[in-house]
Amino acid sequence: MDTLTAEQRRACMRAVGDKDTAPEMCVRRLAHAMGFRYGLHAKNLPGKPDLVFVSRRKIIFVHGCFWHKHNCGHGSISPVTNTDYWSGKRERNAQRDKENIKALRKDGWKVLVVWECSTRNPESLRRKLERFLRGASVQGNKSN
Ligand SMILES: [Zn+2]
Repeated sequence: MDTLTAEQRRACMRAVGDKDTAPEMCVRRLAHAMGFRYGLHAKNLPGKPDLVFVSRRKIIFVHGCFWHKHNCGHGSISPVTNTDYWSGKRERNAQRDKENIKALRKDGWKVLVVWECSTRNPESLRRKLERFLRGASVQGNKSN
């Protein structure tokens, strides 16, 4: 079961046709097609996570590469105009992301960040979601 069903692939491709929310819609449709149910934009949690799987105590953030400074081609672009403004804003985003994720993990949530660029490869994204969502929800707290 390592390939997308035609339906899952269509769901993701269709989402990519939309504008701003395309990456998030892609993840939502994939997770839904895989049989997972989730809540959206939990306002009571740090960072208002995009997808919340309450019973599994798992959270998925879908981040735009530019705005959240992903370590990829899209995230390392520096706009030529207003460079300081943009880099400050994105720096703050990235910093806040880190703090939110830390707070959530401390509170017992497992957190996965899905980057915008990875939604262009729905096949491997699906495998990633599968691993994350089906994996054990209990986790030792050794690191940090
Ligand atoms: Zn990226």
